[in-house]
Amino acid sequence: MSDPQISIVAPLYNERESFPHLVTRLNALMDRSPLAIEVVLIDDGSRDNTAVLMQQLALTDDRYHCVFLARNYGHQIALTAGMAAAKGSEALFIIDGDLQDPPELLDEFYAKFQEGYDVVYAVRKKRKEGAFKKTAYFLFYRFMKSISYVDIPLDSGDFSLISRRVANVLNQMPEESRFIRGMRSWIGFKQIGVEYERDARVAGDAKYTFKMLRKLAYNGIFNFSEFPIKFLTNLGMFSIGIAFLYFIQTLIKKYFFGGVPEGFTALLFTIILFGGIQLIGMGLIGEYVLRIFFQSKGRPLYIVRETIRKKERQN
Ligand code: UDP
Ligand code: MG
Repeated sequence: MSDPQISIVAPLYNERESFPHLVTRLNALMDRSPLAIEVVLIDDGSRDNTAVLMQQLALTDDRYHCVFLARNYGHQIALTAGMAAAKGSEALFIIDGDLQDPPELLDEFYAKFQEGYDVVYAVRKKRKEGAFKKTAYFLFYRFMKSISYVDIPLDSGDFSLISRRVANVLNQMPEESRFIRGMRSWIGFKQIGVEYERDARVAGDAKYTFKMLRKLAYNGIFNFSEFPIKFLTNLGMFSIGIAFLYFIQTLIKKYFFGGVPEGFTALLFTIILFGGIQLIGMGLIGEYVLRIFFQSKGRPLYIVRETIRKKERQN
């Protein structure tokens, strides 16, 4: 059996409600597409019966290739596992399992790929999500752009079509704290954005908690910029400057105007201020050390519990 041209990769975590919708939409897409498509679904240690639904599907439909992770590793790692398992010889189409990224855009993305682009990433024009989330995303992407040393496009997530060679590069990148949209930009090649409207989730609730989003944001900031450390250094320089000026002012007061320098409050204020700055500084350095620590363990990024791929079983 020859390899498919395209792998559609979708991570799933407790997606019991959206699963039937996802399968219906993907089946319709595959039925009408002239491309040879496989779907790689990754169960990211779901606690509902998503895994059971996936098993049943993979055993009956040989276009589906299901990977079950040993526990919940988070979206970025689940996606990594999916990309490693994907066999698509031409390209990988990465979507969310909750249908927020319409799979039907494959045709449009594939057309761009055929024009010679290695990465076709989706740019959100509109998102149908709560105001808080929207504002947070809006600010984060702009902040990220201003500090990052790679040019990460605004308002684009992991929804994208990547060529086989880009996927191979990503699969070789061993970094533990993954920010895939940043890694994808870092790789280079010809990249292009395509605008789309991000739908609301088809069913169920968001699986990304605030904590997980914060982790993702930190991974972006700490792994794709030198900003925190540079900021700290600059702040240090600035405070030395202030202290120096203050010292000169005190000397002038003492020798030209006489009198004991007052300023008990100023002293207290300065101590508290710089105490705070030092704590932040230690925290920032801690973030880097933590990343070195995790990376230095050299553990595999994830453990696969089981893989079901009917095509291979028949061979
Ligand atoms: N997801 C995952 N592991 C997790 C959390 C989420 O694989 O630990 C999947 C989830 O099933 C969905 C996608 O990642 O297919 C995006 O998650 P979600 O919709 O919760 O994020 P949002 O769209 O709110 O950013
Ligand atoms: Mg979602």
